[in-house]
Amino acid sequence: MEKIKMVTPLVEMDGDEMTRILWKYIKDDLIEPFVDLKTEYYDLGMKHRDETDDQVTIDSARATAKYGVAVKCATITPNQKRVEEYDLKKMYKSPNGTIRAILDGTVFRAPIQVKGIEPNVKSWKKPITLARHAYGDVYKNTEIRVGGKGTAKLVFTDENGNETTEKVFDFEGPGVLQAQYNIDSSISSFAKTCFEYALSTGQDLWFASKDTISKKYDGQFRDIFQEMYDKEYKTRFEEKGITYFYTLIDDAVARVMKSEGGFIWACKNYDGDVMSDMVSSACGSLALMTSVLVSPKGVYEYEAAHGTVQRHYYKHLKGEETSTNPVATIFAWSGALRKRGELDGLPELEAFAGRLEKATLSTIESGYMTKDLVNLTTLTDIHVCNTEDFIKKIRERL
Ligand code: NAP
Ligand code: MG
Repeated sequence: MEKIKMVTPLVEMDGDEMTRILWKYIKDDLIEPFVDLKTEYYDLGMKHRDETDDQVTIDSARATAKYGVAVKCATITPNQKRVEEYDLKKMYKSPNGTIRAILDGTVFRAPIQVKGIEPNVKSWKKPITLARHAYGDVYKNTEIRVGGKGTAKLVFTDENGNETTEKVFDFEGPGVLQAQYNIDSSISSFAKTCFEYALSTGQDLWFASKDTISKKYDGQFRDIFQEMYDKEYKTRFEEKGITYFYTLIDDAVARVMKSEGGFIWACKNYDGDVMSDMVSSACGSLALMTSVLVSPKGVYEYEAAHGTVQRHYYKHLKGEETSTNPVATIFAWSGALRKRGELDGLPELEAFAGRLEKATLSTIESGYMTKDLVNLTTLTDIHVCNTEDFIKKIRERL
């Protein structure tokens, strides 16, 4: 068989632990036998990030901006334990955070739906894609533990030294205090990316915040979305037959639970953090959740939503059998290959991505699955596979 040709390389970001093992299996067994794979390889494994003082992460993000499509393996975000485990020079930042900051992107997460693993929410027939604004708010907060009686104020000093002051609270006793911020440019990028992604996937877009309480802060999010929609997207949405609507976050949550799915739910940073865990849990397994970082310039980085599955990796190192689910990582590859095919005008590559996904899903639908899915499935004739055998089963179908 002649292999499918590529034109532009994919940016390949290798990663850590069990997902690094999966990465190699997927490439060796499911991709390279069929595709004349062209990648520009960046090793984001913990050791190599340390050796390069994390420059490799920055380089990989810049390469993504240059070529337009990347596929990323899960990576360790170091904490104190990891600093000791890998004898790191310092506690590096999260690679995903670094890449996101360089690409100014928004993360879209969607569950992979497969027959036999039904969402807990019965009405959900199609996947709900969650878009999280990954900038600012509580993640960049400044906090004070208030020791006792006193007055808290919010002060902004402009570049000419003019001050705007708001009293926050007169404390009578100990308490806590927090300040948050966001910037129009980031909110606009977020909005733009959401509108573009809705158009490119042909799905409705929902956005919600708490603007009834947070009139200026959340109100600014609402207004930026609405102005952009009215000015740049209304006509295009109507032509495509999709809608945008804004509502209060409480109302959105209630509606989501009663919906059929099949739309994009844009969330502020914290809402997105929490709601994406809710949607993914309701859909079964973190291992069935895809994630794509999209920049307002139309650059895409695909990955699995889960981490490096550390516990399985330690078993693997001890020579014990593992049953780690590779589906989300396979879909990261298929998503990236499809997008590369689309951008380069390679219908064969796009078709291959579809076949890879179909082979993966039909393997599960015919009862072959990893352990994490066994308790979730409604199928009865089940064969539990170890990591390698599951990939081999997909290979047979492919
Ligand atoms: P995790 O790797 O997602 O794993 C958490 C647990 O979820 C696993 O122990 C496993 O449960 C289950 N699980 C996740 N993915 C699975 C899969 N593909 N197949 C089967 N089971 C799966 O999260 P973590 O343990 O909190 O984090 C481990 C490392 O990953 C950390 O160093 C963290 O920094 C990193 N991380 C990276 C990313 C990323 O790069 N995008 C995201 C999150 C976390 P059982 O053990 O019960 O089987
Ligand atoms: Mg979370």
